[in-house]
Amino acid sequence: MATAKEDVGDDTLDELFKDKARIEELSSDEEEVFKRGNSDAAEVYGPPFPGKNQLKPRRKLEYLPPWLQEASINLFHDDLETTTSEAQQKTTAECLPFLTGEETQGLELNSHGLPHLRRRKHADFLRGTFNKLPAPYQVVDASRPWLFYWTLGGLSFLGEEVTQYRERLIETVRPLQNPTGGFGGGHGQYSHCACTYATVLALAAVGGLEMVDRKAMWHWLGQVKQADGGFRMAVGAEEDIRGAYCAMTVITLLGLPLELPAEAPARKAGLETFTDRLGEWVGRCQTYEGGIAGAPTNEAHGAYAFCALACLSIVDAPHKSIPKYLDVQALASCLTSLQTMPEGGFAGRTNKLVDACYSHWVGGCWALLQAAVTGGGTKVARTEDLWSREGLIRYLLCCCQQPGKKGGMRDKPSTRPDGYHTCYSLAGLSAAQNHYNYDITGEAVDKESGRLTAAFNWKAERPTAEEMKVLRFDEEDLVGFVHPVFVLPMGVIEATRRQFAENML
Ligand SMILES: [Zn+2]
Repeated sequence: MATAKEDVGDDTLDELFKDKARIEELSSDEEEVFKRGNSDAAEVYGPPFPGKNQLKPRRKLEYLPPWLQEASINLFHDDLETTTSEAQQKTTAECLPFLTGEETQGLELNSHGLPHLRRRKHADFLRGTFNKLPAPYQVVDASRPWLFYWTLGGLSFLGEEVTQYRERLIETVRPLQNPTGGFGGGHGQYSHCACTYATVLALAAVGGLEMVDRKAMWHWLGQVKQADGGFRMAVGAEEDIRGAYCAMTVITLLGLPLELPAEAPARKAGLETFTDRLGEWVGRCQTYEGGIAGAPTNEAHGAYAFCALACLSIVDAPHKSIPKYLDVQALASCLTSLQTMPEGGFAGRTNKLVDACYSHWVGGCWALLQAAVTGGGTKVARTEDLWSREGLIRYLLCCCQQPGKKGGMRDKPSTRPDGYHTCYSLAGLSAAQNHYNYDITGEAVDKESGRLTAAFNWKAERPTAEEMKVLRFDEEDLVGFVHPVFVLPMGVIEATRRQFAENML
């Protein structure tokens, strides 16, 4: 027995149960193994308590939250070793030294002992992505507008001025706009919902939306609207929930009419507007897990949950549209389970690893869900959150900031930073630090024009000094307000709304 006992720490469950509980549960064969002093015995035959491979966080910080305490970390030890459990162990092991302050990577620390947000370095990194990119970036040649959006979005979340890029961006995306409407990912490419969305957001960020041919855009979107209510990503391409969110975002930000163009194929099936059958189609994407799939019958994924919630929050006020088409409780339960322990960030799918980009895709869902449940207007106390803001903030500040000269934010410590992860890490940080409340007194539809205005009724509120203390970040670590539906600064969205309020096609 001595062998088995020596392998465990002082305050683990093994120690608490001492020899008693363990011995009584063992069959005689298993007891023999312990007597022989087989050092693997605890791992092979032991009850589902941690064996000798348990993780021992080395405490460097005075305060460690409950989920980083040794006993919590080893509470759900997985005895069945698979490729998945090995990958999870490796990720936990790589993150723990950063989370506990054992390894600070030379980063400047805030008043709570966690790394400061490296604002200037991240901004420099993002600006660098506007220069000549290394050869491997050729794989994103068909996604060029995304690079523009991630850079301009990320910079503006950091409070950086981006309007100086206006002319440059307009001239760069001009050849991507097709005369038949919409934007392709590169020169000579077909228009695509994702690239069109990214271009429109990037242009909105710099105040350059007047270069968009709105009439052609309206006609093109009429071509991708489907008879079952959803949207294809491009003419003849796949129909999925990204298409629905991207198309509704473009329609709303550009103030396009909700009526389908006369030649839209969906009219033949009796549809008259872009929102006809849309909520029902989104509802069909909810899976047995409670999460949202890219299309009906597919696997649930965190990013699609955001697309579904944001899309429904455009169609109507979230407390009306979301419960109408989705099982909110099942969705909340599914999303809650995506926050990983002990890392504190979110994974995109069940049994997958933590990844900083889901700080937005899943972290951004909570404000929308909260509005769906409370009817908006009610500030939910931090203690009533269904997710850990503190956990997400700690993961992003400790594990996802690239140290050294370069800056930028990354998926996890073993990966390199890029514009995508920097943009969505900052958006997720904003979601965790600030409050976003839906104003139920706002109109969901403009009575005169018939345009959807529900998504323009959000109000943001910065955290109190007490909340910042509890969540362990300082004033200089605070990210600006990011619109919970359109993922651009709140001020940019308001300016866009005003730009097209009176501007009919
Ligand atoms: Zn990622």
